[in-house]
Amino acid sequence: MNDRILIIGSGLAGITLVRELRKRDKAVEILVVTADDGSFYSKPSLSNAFAAGKAPDALVLATAAKLAQDLDVQIMAGTFVLGIDAARRVVRTSRGELAYGRLVLAVGAAQLPVPLAGDGAPDILAVNDLADYRVLRQRLAGTRTVAIIGAGLIGCEFANDLSLGGYAVTVFDTAAQPLARLLPASAAAALRSRLEAIGVVFRLDTRLARAERAAAGCRLVDAQGGATHHDLVVSAIGLRPNLALAQSAGLATNLGIVTDTFLRTSDPHIHALGDCAEIDGLFLPYVMPIMQGAKRLAATLTGAPEAVELPAMPIVVKTPACPTVVSPPPAGRAGRWEEESGADGLRAVFRDAVSQQALGFVLQGAYTRERMTLAAAMPALRPC
Ligand SMILES: Cc1cc2nc3c(=O)[nH]c(=O)nc-3n(C[C@H](O)[C@H](O)[C@H](O)COP(=O)(O)OP(=O)(O)OC[C@H]3O[C@@H](n4cnc5c(N)ncnc54)[C@H](O)[C@@H]3O)c2cc1C
Repeated sequence: MNDRILIIGSGLAGITLVRELRKRDKAVEILVVTADDGSFYSKPSLSNAFAAGKAPDALVLATAAKLAQDLDVQIMAGTFVLGIDAARRVVRTSRGELAYGRLVLAVGAAQLPVPLAGDGAPDILAVNDLADYRVLRQRLAGTRTVAIIGAGLIGCEFANDLSLGGYAVTVFDTAAQPLARLLPASAAAALRSRLEAIGVVFRLDTRLARAERAAAGCRLVDAQGGATHHDLVVSAIGLRPNLALAQSAGLATNLGIVTDTFLRTSDPHIHALGDCAEIDGLFLPYVMPIMQGAKRLAATLTGAPEAVELPAMPIVVKTPACPTVVSPPPAGRAGRWEEESGADGLRAVFRDAVSQQALGFVLQGAYTRERMTLAAAMPALRPC
């Protein structure tokens, strides 16, 4: 019987899983198949590398060759997995078929396509990996004005970074405030005004309709016909888990690839980890759940099954203009924000309407020091 563990994807999920597996088992055969060049880099650094003066190459923490040597793992880089035959336990790749004993899908998520008409739409960049980031840095050279579509986490981080880097940044969103899904109005207003103070322009409540190629750059036209010109346009409108492979294997999918708390999909020989997975109803495309999940999955795959635990995992928003930490309350829970603010920041705690239990929080400025204490007081995450 083939006992090989085949991991598709060499992002944080795939490579952290290899590291955790090797801590437990020096001998099991591990093969990583990845569409990219297999080098390991810090994806969160993509949105704060510019102001830190880091070139794309400086973000690479280990090449595929180094990982293969250090972790005693085979890495097939530049190899696309095209489909999975779960009955035969083989994957079809751009370099032929590969058999597996256990398969782990760590295929991440892709940027949502930008819903704009016009000949400029294909020129809009989305930055979801190091290759995209190299393109961004090349295209930033010699430009001055940048539009960012999406005032969420990644849009605001890029706005802060590029503004500190000397670019004139305009952020568009259909919502009335930045980080609309994560922050109460007061915290969003503070973030907005701090970013405005360093030169970021917000065009909120604005639905863009078209992107038109201009002599240099792009003309963005909103639904009311208003137009603005930008040298470069970056999209940060959100992610969609990569489901095609899971669907080719007939696995259950929802927003992500459906798994239980052992990260097992609807096929007992296939697991999923990272931005592609939906764990027991929760979609958590962040570093901390991946680190935790990789540890538990390594235990499970080496014969000592461990369910993932999902404590509250606060998200650090990398906007140095307004340091912000968020532990979002569960979606749809009725309650109210209890706020305290002063010159040096803000604390907002979300309390359940009936029990008054604290379910989430936002900290800004000096209050971010309370992150660990407040996180420990939050209930574990629950399926939405
Ligand atoms: C700009 C930015 C900033 C971020 N900042 C933070 C932050 O501050 N804090 C935080 O917690 N999170 C942050 N995140 C999110 C975090 O980086 C991700 O949750 C994490 O990196 C996802 O890792 P992953 O391995 O699941 O996916 P990915 O890194 O996307 O890896 C997917 C892998 O699958 C491979 N692949 C996909 N399809 C195929 C195929 N068909 N065949 C072969 N290979 C395939 C790809 O080549 C890639 O190697 C940020 C994300 C971005 C984009």
